[in-house]
Amino acid sequence: MSIRLHVSPVLPTEGFTHGFPERTGGVSTGLRSSLNLGKRWGDDVANVERNRTLLAEHAGYDPGQLVATRHVHGTNVYKVGEPLVTDAEFDGLVCDRVGPVLGAFAADCIPILFADPEARVCGAAHAGWRGTVAGIAANVVTRMVELGARPERVRVALGPSIGPCCFEVGPEVVAEFRAALGELTGLVVGPGAGSEFRPLHPGTGPRKDHIDLRVATRAILERAGVRRDLIDDRPPCTRCEGDRFFSYRRDGIEGGVHMAFIGLT
Ligand SMILES: [Zn+2]
Repeated sequence: MSIRLHVSPVLPTEGFTHGFPERTGGVSTGLRSSLNLGKRWGDDVANVERNRTLLAEHAGYDPGQLVATRHVHGTNVYKVGEPLVTDAEFDGLVCDRVGPVLGAFAADCIPILFADPEARVCGAAHAGWRGTVAGIAANVVTRMVELGARPERVRVALGPSIGPCCFEVGPEVVAEFRAALGELTGLVVGPGAGSEFRPLHPGTGPRKDHIDLRVATRAILERAGVRRDLIDDRPPCTRCEGDRFFSYRRDGIEGGVHMAFIGLT
């Protein structure tokens, strides 16, 4: 099986390169089969390096162009070009020049890619539920604006990630989302929301609430000035589609990690 890239129709094809790689086309084995792009969960580093090279060749960039940072479920955003220490901890990256290719890792968390075609600024983020609540997506927009972007021009694609069908959470998580975002339509799915819920997997719902991270992310982006019609918030669910995607909820750290990428061309 070859490498397959999920791409978003809202992101510009002219002047940018981007993709959300699926799991096929790499050399890792077992639950990490095969295009595992993350090094932190114990895969053979040589396999990960090979996978990153295969991806770069497929996408048409040099592996040395990749800029990736350690994600910590935080809200810090790195502007490419600033001094960067090894293992720097940033969940977001922004860039306004040709050359660097930004990487954002995720396996159920949302990889988010950003582009302002007029200002020629791009961004990438990793957003788990903690980073989502804390506003990582809005922070990326803010840093893009510092580089000349305008919120109403910024295009945003949410990548393959855990959907509301599978993201079962405890009441304490629901409380954090409600405290940060208020009552949003569709944010909570399940008994706590008083809505009907049809479980897709044995053992999930309707005993517990499910959160729709896409609804939360869209609201945060809109509050940051991003136009709703420029947000692609309908990615596939990583936990549902095991043939295409890695999923932490499904496989734990024995599984693989995806890496979305974006760069200016
Ligand atoms: Zn699902």
